Amino acid sequence: KESSIKPCDPSKIVVCVRKRPLSKKEKLKNDPDAIKAMNNTVQVFEPKLKVDLTKYTEVHPFTFDVAFDETAKNQDVYNSCAKPLVQAFFDGSKVTCFAYGQTGAGKTHTMMGTPEEPGLYTLALRDIFEMKQRKEYAHLGVYISFFEIYGSKLFDLLNGKKRVECREDAKQRVRIIGLEERLCEDPEQVAQTIEEGGKCRSTGSTGANADSSRSHAILEITLKYMDTPTTSENSSSTESDPSSIYGKLSFIDLAGSERAADTTHSDRQTRMEGAEINKSLLALKECIRALGQNQYHTPFRGSKLTLVLKDSFISPDSRTVMIANVSPAASNCEHTLNTLRYADRVK
Ligand code: ADP
Ligand code: MG
Repeated sequence: KESSIKPCDPSKIVVCVRKRPLSKKEKLKNDPDAIKAMNNTVQVFEPKLKVDLTKYTEVHPFTFDVAFDETAKNQDVYNSCAKPLVQAFFDGSKVTCFAYGQTGAGKTHTMMGTPEEPGLYTLALRDIFEMKQRKEYAHLGVYISFFEIYGSKLFDLLNGKKRVECREDAKQRVRIIGLEERLCEDPEQVAQTIEEGGKCRSTGSTGANADSSRSHAILEITLKYMDTPTTSENSSSTESDPSSIYGKLSFIDLAGSERAADTTHSDRQTRMEGAEINKSLLALKECIRALGQNQYHTPFRGSKLTLVLKDSFISPDSRTVMIANVSPAASNCEHTLNTLRYADRVK
């Protein structure tokens, strides 16, 4: 029977929470810090009165694998959560790292970072190029793709937001037709590639009121065998041949989780986008749960997001890290609680 469940491997799914510092604006408004993150616990002090955010709080405790407070740097998050994924990637696994949370909670800061404080993309790629120096990995090449899922459509961030299509081939492998894949030789080339994609994400126009909070951004880093002859006649390297993949590392900066609630908005477009985001975040939760329980059936068909990640979800040695980003502000408590409840349920 397909519903057989094997015992869960504890390291397969890691869920961590990251609290950002209070912003200048929040401090100016005297919006109190309502979150305490320590070791692996998070406490939310929910204000019961809108008129005074400091009084009469209700305490909500949570436990995760790791909880980072506002003093944590991207390097800390990388070392404890993403570095183990890079190791698994070089062992030939398909691994995934998600940033989940409300808009403004710090997802892009964690993933992309800033020139002063590079994010997980850059920190991982630095290690990847260092590892690749080793003789045993000389036959592998590092390829990068960067795309966005907006509604249920895919857009290539390395190709001026060109629309690309995702299809399952005869062997039921999911492929994104026409997606650009760049062979990167060094960290500088990677930095340029990421910057180009990041700019494209925030400035391009996909829909009526396109903004990054309504789309999922996926940075895919692939290790491929370099000696595999290309099967296609015109040997353009832009189309992926799934059989030559050695390992895959995907970083996903998810759409703002509060957008999932936009299903009652007065504007039809916003309502539909909200419904789509809601669907994809629910499907994602179900897939990660299935993975954690080693179920034979992963419901990856539930959304475009989970379909695109099919090969990682069905891979027997896959690993997943979920970083739940939260705002410390008391005024954001409701969204923070929603984020923590979601993160609590994926495992
Ligand atoms: P999101 O991508 O979740 O919408 P951002 O990453 O854009 O949120 O963060 C919102 C703002 O907060 C940005 O100005 C960002 O620089 C800042 N910020 C987020 N996390 C941190 C952090 N850990 N340390 C300092 N500033 C942060
Ligand atoms: Mg963002």
